Amino acid sequence: MLCRGIVQYVTGTFFSERAILYTTAEPCPMCQGAILWTGIEMVVFGTSIRSLQKMGWRQIDIFAEEVVRRSPAWRCTLVGGVLERECDALFGLAISRRN
Ligand SMILES: [Zn+2]
Repeated sequence: MLCRGIVQYVTGTFFSERAILYTTAEPCPMCQGAILWTGIEMVVFGTSIRSLQKMGWRQIDIFAEEVVRRSPAWRCTLVGGVLERECDALFGLAISRRN
């Protein structure tokens, strides 16, 4: 409930469990945990954690699917690889500008 309150406070909008979170990258374990606590039931992402690692982006080697699978009471559908090439390009550009 606290996470739902935070989402409503930050976004200023009513929170619905039927919300779909769209993101450029697969959520890290911390973010996926927060997503589960808020009750968001679907996440759509482009770049995978594995792809980020291959590009040199530091990531904890635990995939969002594993966080969901190990969560006893929450459900969340993960849809990965959406516009993956475009998202990979964005992260590649960010890394090149960082160096
Ligand atoms: Zn994260």
